Amino acid sequence: MCGIVGYVGDKKAISKIMTGLRSLEYRGYDSAGIAYIKDGIVKIIKREGPIDNLDKKLNYDEVTNIGISHTRWSTHGVANDINSHPHRQGKITIVHNGIIENYESLKKNLTSLGYIFKSNTDTEVASALIDNLYKETGDMLLAINKASGMLEGSYAFNIINDDYPDTVFGTRKDSPLIVGVGQNENILASDIPAILHITNKYVVLNNYDVVVMKKDKLTFYNKDNEEVQKDIREFLDSPEVISKNGYEHYMLKEINEQAEIVKKLLKLYTEGNKVTLSFDLKKYKTIDIVACGSASFAGQLGKFYIEKFLDIPTSVTFASEYRYQKNFFDKDKLVILISQSGETADTLAVLKLAKENNVDTLAIVNRKDSSIAREADNVIYTEAGIEISVATTKAYLAQVIVLLLLAIRENENESKILDDLKILPNLITKEINDYDYELLAKLFYKKENVFYLGRGVDYFLAMEGSLKLKEISYIHSEAFAAGELKHGSISLVDENFGIIAVVTDKNIGNKTISNLKEVSARNAKILTITNIKDETFSDYKIEIDDISDILNPLLAIVPMQLIAYNIAKLKKCNIDKPRNLAKSVTVE
Ligand code: GLU
Repeated sequence: MCGIVGYVGDKKAISKIMTGLRSLEYRGYDSAGIAYIKDGIVKIIKREGPIDNLDKKLNYDEVTNIGISHTRWSTHGVANDINSHPHRQGKITIVHNGIIENYESLKKNLTSLGYIFKSNTDTEVASALIDNLYKETGDMLLAINKASGMLEGSYAFNIINDDYPDTVFGTRKDSPLIVGVGQNENILASDIPAILHITNKYVVLNNYDVVVMKKDKLTFYNKDNEEVQKDIREFLDSPEVISKNGYEHYMLKEINEQAEIVKKLLKLYTEGNKVTLSFDLKKYKTIDIVACGSASFAGQLGKFYIEKFLDIPTSVTFASEYRYQKNFFDKDKLVILISQSGETADTLAVLKLAKENNVDTLAIVNRKDSSIAREADNVIYTEAGIEISVATTKAYLAQVIVLLLLAIRENENESKILDDLKILPNLITKEINDYDYELLAKLFYKKENVFYLGRGVDYFLAMEGSLKLKEISYIHSEAFAAGELKHGSISLVDENFGIIAVVTDKNIGNKTISNLKEVSARNAKILTITNIKDETFSDYKIEIDDISDILNPLLAIVPMQLIAYNIAKLKKCNIDKPRNLAKSVTVE
């Protein structure tokens, strides 16, 4: 989590840094800070709360050409001014993304050497460690590489050293870091949006790479202190992709982009009525889909499609659980890892685990050049473009489409399903426009509890709908397999409860309807998203089109996103940056 930006160049650094940092606020926003060098002296300013709180304390005219900055998603120590980054010990000032797992034992040793710690963070320990190693070696590269050998956990660092007032140092392990290559200015950041005001050229750092960044020179080293050459890549999308494009929120913009994304995926991954993706799932006897959050719910739909079309037993497990459970790895198993950012720490750890066990891996990832994309045996990109809203919408839909394409490849129904998929974009646009979602949201925004109900594939959709609602509106919500409710949890239901039901699967729809009657009998009001016409089991309805059992689930997704969005808007929540969350979950 968290965003870091370091800059050195011939321009005023504070403005360059803050433009970059603001574009990373989606990665963490509980506190922010900056360190810059003015007349050889390091100045540190940091504040609890969003970047605006820091901004108010800054003088953009300050004459400085070098600095590092951080927007935090705290893991060690509450969000307050002291725990905010940068942290400084001796000559070393540092910002950090990640978690130093062995910070307590390191802290003990460093305390015995005389270091006094002001914060509760693991990061301050890393600054002391590097300072101490610099004292011992007199060489920053050696100090950084020795520190890497001692630090356990994950990190991306931007570091400045009082003795090098023209240099920002950077290194990483399991947290992302890229170097934007400019003209007489360079920038070191967590993600591409933060460099685009300076350059679209960038270098991706691999684990343990070290960069020594000056305004007109970039030098890269490996962990053995040897200089290495790195490829310069180009980000070819226009910077427009990271603007709101006139929408009130990124989330709304991204919901509206979904029709175009379906078209794009069809263009990229199909030809005529054939899927052109070459990856063949049929080689495998079992498939484990591993992911976190919405990506795992996309995985549930993937399981539905894979089992339906390929008859391959498929499991879906949260990455944070899969890592520590017993897994029956063998040569006939495929592990599919799904991640929007491609940096999700738990998912990355599972990728490594699978590779250690010689199991084939396939990554379904949105962000190119991300760690998971680079390290998996095979990768398919979801091509949804940069997603800024913390709550995913378009990336989730794209993950589902890619899984569907993989499942129907070379199936006898491939041609018919692709024909149907071609009409999906228009139907998505239509359903975005057809309903007054704000009016529907008014029915729910004062509720304290909402259950999302469905069976079979509709239950998988309910999981995503429920997560969307709770993450952005803070209303307590759970998804339930509709038939399971009566085995305990229906005791919670009364007239104050909100119920949102999904009924797209006609094979099991009647059973869900019976369950909804049970809820109705407890006086709860029901909003149903369904393709069943003339139904009488709900109080309010969003009627979606009826394409096929395979594609109807995809039509239920968009209304659920818009309901959550409008409820959060009525509640005046911070929709794009919900509390306690961050977009790219690079901590375990
Ligand atoms: N572990 C560090 C802290 O809690 C960094 C967290 C982050 O990545 O923002 O301050």
